[in-house]
Amino acid sequence: MNAIRDALQGVRNHIISVAEACGRNPAEIQLLAVSKTFPADAIRDAWAAGQRAFGENYVQELASKCETLQDLPVEWHFIGPLQSNKTRIIAEHAHWIHSVDRLKIAERLSAQRPDNMPPLNVCLQVNISQEDSKSGVNVADVAPLAHAIARLPKLTLRGLMCIPAPCNDLAQQRAPFAALKQLLQQLQSEGLAVDTLSMGMSSDMPAAIQEGATIVRVGTAIFGARHYPGGAA
Ligand SMILES: *Cc1c(COP(=O)(O)O)cnc(C)c1O
Repeated sequence: MNAIRDALQGVRNHIISVAEACGRNPAEIQLLAVSKTFPADAIRDAWAAGQRAFGENYVQELASKCETLQDLPVEWHFIGPLQSNKTRIIAEHAHWIHSVDRLKIAERLSAQRPDNMPPLNVCLQVNISQEDSKSGVNVADVAPLAHAIARLPKLTLRGLMCIPAPCNDLAQQRAPFAALKQLLQQLQSEGLAVDTLSMGMSSDMPAAIQEGATIVRVGTAIFGARHYPGGAA
């Protein structure tokens, strides 16, 4: 469908212009197309327009889309909350998970990762805005959890992810992203080989790129508004 192709091109151009304006190489920023709630055919359309990495929030939806799209070597990213009784599906299907927030989940993913698959790439989801209600690791707990996960054999710890509280002011949007970047640098200084900042969605992507995002997770700006539950992050 041309609408998805055109929207993708618009998002790519936006990434390039924001990156260049702040002196970054656009090639360092990967676009993750968040396809949750959209049908497999929308992924085919985006694939035809050159998109290779797709993000899903719901375990069953990821599994059924993997099945339907077996003919496409999609790079699947799981970005939603994960319960421990569903880890096997993610271990067997995903290339990345961005939403790990406790050791038990990581241990299960490592144990359940099939031997013939490469290690699962992992980002820790950080509760960077320090909201009581939000999921994610508390800032103070990030380093110990990161070191523990880095030792698990079938996982590769790649970095950090956040979903800050929504706000419309660019300067205010930047603050939590800057804090996440500092946290990543702290882990690097402690010897962890982490390279990924998964941050920025349709409404705050420019702020995230300005603060160093290496993966932006964009749904609405590519596929349009979501019409059924799952619309909220
Ligand atoms: C839905 C979702 C996105 C994409 O949000 P948009 O505002 O549609 O771009 C990104 N990250 C996570 C974790 C999400 O749940």
